[in-house]
Amino acid sequence: MPVINRIAAMQDEVAGWRQDFHAHPEIGFDVHRTAGIVADKLRAFGCDEVVPGMIRGRKTASDRVMGLRADMDALPIHEATGVPYASNTPGKMHACGHDGHTSMLLGAAKYLCETRNFDGTVVVIFQPNEEGLTGGLAMLEDGLIGRFGIQELYGMHTWPGPAPGTFGIRPGPLLAAADRFTIEIAGKGAHAMAPHTSIDPVIVAAHTITALQTIAARNVDPLEAVVVSTCMVHAGDAFNIIPERATLTGTVRTLSEGVRDTAAARLAAIAKGTAATLGASATVTYERAVPVTINDPDKTKLALQVAREVAGTSNVLDDVAPTMGAEDFAHMLKERPGAYILIGNGPGPGLHTPGYNFNDAALPFGISYLARLAETGMPA
Ligand SMILES: [Zn+2]
Ligand SMILES: [Zn+2]
Repeated sequence: MPVINRIAAMQDEVAGWRQDFHAHPEIGFDVHRTAGIVADKLRAFGCDEVVPGMIRGRKTASDRVMGLRADMDALPIHEATGVPYASNTPGKMHACGHDGHTSMLLGAAKYLCETRNFDGTVVVIFQPNEEGLTGGLAMLEDGLIGRFGIQELYGMHTWPGPAPGTFGIRPGPLLAAADRFTIEIAGKGAHAMAPHTSIDPVIVAAHTITALQTIAARNVDPLEAVVVSTCMVHAGDAFNIIPERATLTGTVRTLSEGVRDTAAARLAAIAKGTAATLGASATVTYERAVPVTINDPDKTKLALQVAREVAGTSNVLDDVAPTMGAEDFAHMLKERPGAYILIGNGPGPGLHTPGYNFNDAALPFGISYLARLAETGMPA
């Protein structure tokens, strides 16, 4: 079965929701307008519970509970799409397609409330602050899994490039673990004309930035993936003063827990060792923000089957390349098995850029995919 007819008929309605969300972007946990509209719609659809939404099937003999998750938050970017429904808030925009994700899950909720053609329970999860990478974790800490007895979880992200009506997925790691590091280097300040009386933290920072690249070059198997990016370098206030301190901040991305542990350990050793060699000291803070997004092989089979039914076999990539981007849905997939899929959004500007806009042509495919996950995974 391709796109479900009833869902194809909802296209204009759901595109209207999507464009309204697009015009009213909200950031982080501050998604009150969006969440309010979501709750109102779920209530109007006749969900059995509203926050998060719960929909009981025609039968519930199976005792199965499936979670479908979308994110609602936007980004601190000044929109430059020029569309008539562009952001009405300067400096905020839906540049990651979460307006589309929210609308597709709402569309699926509407269809599933109407038809209830499954045996079990669907929980529709609308989460805040994906971009801050803590919204999903907050919902888990709130008891999301236990409260509903969720057994499996599915998520989806828009995928600029491939045409609407295509999907990409793979079993195993799909997105990276994203960690954040801060290295504070303490030296000794001096007049710039007397460097021999200083312990120059700027020199230490320069050596440290370079040495950190040996994690990828010399510590990790070249066939494994690791990114070490020092993205912030702060030191000094004047051209003629050697400062007391320097601070480096950046991110480490990995696709396996083993490589992640290696990178974290080497980062600390290199930072402290480099500082010590040059007579300074370094304090390292390493925050493990998000784990690897790992697709369960069995749940990926279901996702693949459903995506092929909706989009046609030739339009579904079953071994899409992993990327070093991160997704806080990874926290949920650590709690319960599930699958995360990419949905083609057509050519155009990339995610997190001022020109990006979710392509509404993808809506019926995404909604059908989510609806059919419930119907196929929990057949009535
Ligand atoms: Zn994003
Ligand atoms: Zn996103």
